[in-house]
Amino acid sequence: MILSKSNFFLMADTNLKGLTLAGLEQFIVSIGEPKYRAAQIYQWLYKYRVTSFDGMTNLSVALRQKLSETAYIEQFSVATSQTSKADGTVKFLYELSDGKKIETVLIPPRVTAVDAEERMTLCVSTQIGCALDCTFCATASMGFIRNLTTGEILNQFLTAQTFSEKPITNIVFMGMGEPMLNYDNVMSAIDIITDQNGIGLSSRRITLSTAGYANHIRKMADEDRKIKLALSLHSLRDDVRTALMPLTKKFKVEDLLAALEYYNKKTKKSVMLEYIVFEGVNDTDQDVQLLIKAARRLDCRVNLIPFHSIDITNPKGYSAHLHGASKEGLEQIWKKLRANDVITFIRHSAGVDIDAACGQLAVKNELEILN
Ligand code: SAH
Repeated sequence: MILSKSNFFLMADTNLKGLTLAGLEQFIVSIGEPKYRAAQIYQWLYKYRVTSFDGMTNLSVALRQKLSETAYIEQFSVATSQTSKADGTVKFLYELSDGKKIETVLIPPRVTAVDAEERMTLCVSTQIGCALDCTFCATASMGFIRNLTTGEILNQFLTAQTFSEKPITNIVFMGMGEPMLNYDNVMSAIDIITDQNGIGLSSRRITLSTAGYANHIRKMADEDRKIKLALSLHSLRDDVRTALMPLTKKFKVEDLLAALEYYNKKTKKSVMLEYIVFEGVNDTDQDVQLLIKAARRLDCRVNLIPFHSIDITNPKGYSAHLHGASKEGLEQIWKKLRANDVITFIRHSAGVDIDAACGQLAVKNELEILN
């Protein structure tokens, strides 16, 4: 059979990076090979992390040739990377196959941390831009561009790992985008990351943070997902939370707390409540009392977060008037929560000097395109 050029490209169009074992099985059968080959390829891709078919040495030369004619293994190119002089945080700007760009942040532990030797955290993006319009978040200024594929989510990890001397031990889905709005791709990536035949990280070391999709929180509980769940809460008052996070119009604070209670009950697992402390917005006595009351309803820990500037996006209106509480202000709330037996931590800000801290991810090139 003579293949025309266009046929050939069509056939070589399957990107194997990102396929689950079931997806690889489907592919391998479709090219007339026995199903068990899929498990071998799966290990090569994720456990041994080869970047070409030539590296898959337990496959015959003929099969490797056939694979290279029918499929490819997507790779990332790093457009730029910046390293924080203050704390060693590295921000990667990756260029995707369609020319779009995303950011991923590699966060070393603080030298004083008890597990400083072992820990290395990667903050991963799930979407290009974001549709949710949270007033305090830089990513919102990009608008929503598209969901990342499972392969693109995995490649953030696989590429960052090649740059990191130490193994990456923890992943937080706290980069650009809302993970629950790309649920299937994110969960497939997590399945591969936590599989012992895949990347092999412990599910206890993976945290997914949501802006508040109560329905997906319940879905995660029903599916008995083993990863950790965090909720960007930021206020217990619907009016204040709506001003900060318009998604509150759809899922009210009470819907979210009820979903977390359900999650606690169903999975027997604790959740994290994330709370950026804004001066004069959500730091009054009443706010703290509401936070204590909510925390007591749940099996949870509270993470108080210093607000990171989003000035890079030239915020206007409500966003321009948001200011983070002082260090003392944060500590006072921490003390009040602790005094009421609420397990509370203050989040350490990493990478502020390179705009890599929580909420600061916004690809400037994409911003220019949109503006
Ligand atoms: N969409 C998800 C994940 C991305 S945000 C979510 O909303 O949770 C990841 C974390 O960064 C969340 O805790 C979020 O509340 C926090 N964050 C966003 N903007 C921030 C900012 N400007 N300063 C500090 N934290 C911010």
